[in-house]
Amino acid sequence: MTTQYDVVVIGAGPAGYHAAIRCAQLGFKTACIDKSQDADGAPAPGGTCLNWGCIPSKALLDASHKYVEARDHFGDIGITAKGVTPDVPKMIEHKAGIVKKLTGGVAGLFKANGVAHLAGSGRLLANRKVEFTDFAGAIQTLEAASVILAPGSVPVEIPPTPMDGDVVVDSTGALEFTAVPKRLGVIGAGVIGLELGSVWSRLGSEVTLLEALDDFLPMADRRVAGDALKIFKRQGLDIRLGARVTASERKGKKVLVTYKDGEGEHQESFDKLIVAVGRRPATEGLLAQDSGVNLDERGFIYVNDLCETGAPGIYAVGDAVRGPMLAHKGMEEGVMVAERIAGKKPLVNYDAVPSVIYTHPELAWVGPSEDVLKQRGEKVKVGTFPFAVSGRALAANDTDGFVKIIADEATDRILAVHVLGPQASELIAQAVIALEFAATAEDLALTMFAHPTLSEAMHEAALGVHGHAIHVANRRR
Ligand code: FAD
Ligand code: NAD
Repeated sequence: MTTQYDVVVIGAGPAGYHAAIRCAQLGFKTACIDKSQDADGAPAPGGTCLNWGCIPSKALLDASHKYVEARDHFGDIGITAKGVTPDVPKMIEHKAGIVKKLTGGVAGLFKANGVAHLAGSGRLLANRKVEFTDFAGAIQTLEAASVILAPGSVPVEIPPTPMDGDVVVDSTGALEFTAVPKRLGVIGAGVIGLELGSVWSRLGSEVTLLEALDDFLPMADRRVAGDALKIFKRQGLDIRLGARVTASERKGKKVLVTYKDGEGEHQESFDKLIVAVGRRPATEGLLAQDSGVNLDERGFIYVNDLCETGAPGIYAVGDAVRGPMLAHKGMEEGVMVAERIAGKKPLVNYDAVPSVIYTHPELAWVGPSEDVLKQRGEKVKVGTFPFAVSGRALAANDTDGFVKIIADEATDRILAVHVLGPQASELIAQAVIALEFAATAEDLALTMFAHPTLSEAMHEAALGVHGHAIHVANRRR
């Protein structure tokens, strides 16, 4: 028997569930297929983001940050906190509770919006047919006017360090340690390496990050990356750049890792090793040979700027297509596709996708780095403001970092904003709005900001673009 739908979505991560809910809101008969299951085998919609990504990692980042504040910094502000100790099983339980609440929330939203939630695997056949296999193995064919592929991504594995799910783990395993490893190795000093490395370092691990590249965070602004590296080293993260891992060997409950750098070959023994060297699109088994959908040379589903694949009526969104692997980028794509199916004409502004690294201080930016803009031949002017002289940052005892605004020299239009500092993830939203509305530095400078707030650093940086900052000496022009 074939069931007819207007839209079938494969994948209920942020890209897929946003697409499905918006399709249903627009009046389409919609089904969303998802194969994720929780530890008890129950359906767990929400994808990597809710189950093993954004949310659980932030739960551990927030908990471990609070612990460090209590242990190391409460004394600075007149609070005596004695005997503060982390309870790792309780932290993991707290994190699991949030995940359960949120995945249940997605299931509830599907119900409330009338999306048919089909728990199992989807496979795209020819002519917009989808084969659906439920957890018990029963197979059904669905037919749809439009199909949206949102299968997401999975961690990359590298031959020198095969995962064993016990000592050598990926990011998912690193969210489940039940005790603090004494010595923790992390391969890759990228976003996951820094976030999860920070969690376990704060809780007491000696953390060593082995990064193959000579540059630290090459996608970030050079000044932000340089200052962040110094701060992370001060916090105890042993970040070794230009370190290429060549082999690993299990030795009882430990793993011996061999790596090479400019000085030769080295070995380190770790109690746990996290492999965090990137993610790849999860397209295995997704497409029948005659589905009409093509993958690019790196295995991503080929799409244009409108998320259209080459096959009529078939779209793809999220981590499995080009662009940054970020939940909010996939969410916007999912909504755009739903609205385009309904005949509306929205676009995703790929020039205004914010990036955040949730360390402490946080890194956040939108738009290119100053170096990239200069390489493109753009003439720019820059305003910066350090949190060290922000009244609110001083009051909060949290003064590392700065805001940097880059504007076009001739038009004053804001081209990029880079923040290293407390709550950079929240502050960057102001910059995204500025870019979306094509604001100039003067527009931000003429805007009134509440006092005392961290946001005032954004205001002062905008004033600084014109040499008018009040609370720092301006560069002579
Ligand atoms: P996914 O979230 O991967 O969801 C895809 C879903 O489709 C999954 O449930 C999968 O089981 C299902 N699926 C796949 N194939 C099939 C099939 N054939 N049939 C049925 N179902 C299928 N991003 C941020 O923006 N901010 C963060 O703070 C952040 N933190 C992260 C932390 C970690 C540790 C990790 C690993 C990632 C993090 N990310 C973060 C990235 C973010 O999780 C992803 O960008 C986002 O989840 C991608 O969304 P998606 O919908 O494309 O895919
Ligand atoms: P990443 O690309 O951020 O970092 C991987 C790092 O590993 C890179 O620096 C790379 O040079 C290094 N590397 C690769 N191969 C190596 C090797 N053999 N030896 C040593 N180093 C090696 O990838 P990730 O940290 O795994 O994260 C995956 C994706 O998930 C990212 O695209 C990211 O956008 C997303 N994510 C986002 C957030 C966030 O938004 N805060 C958090 C976590 C993950």
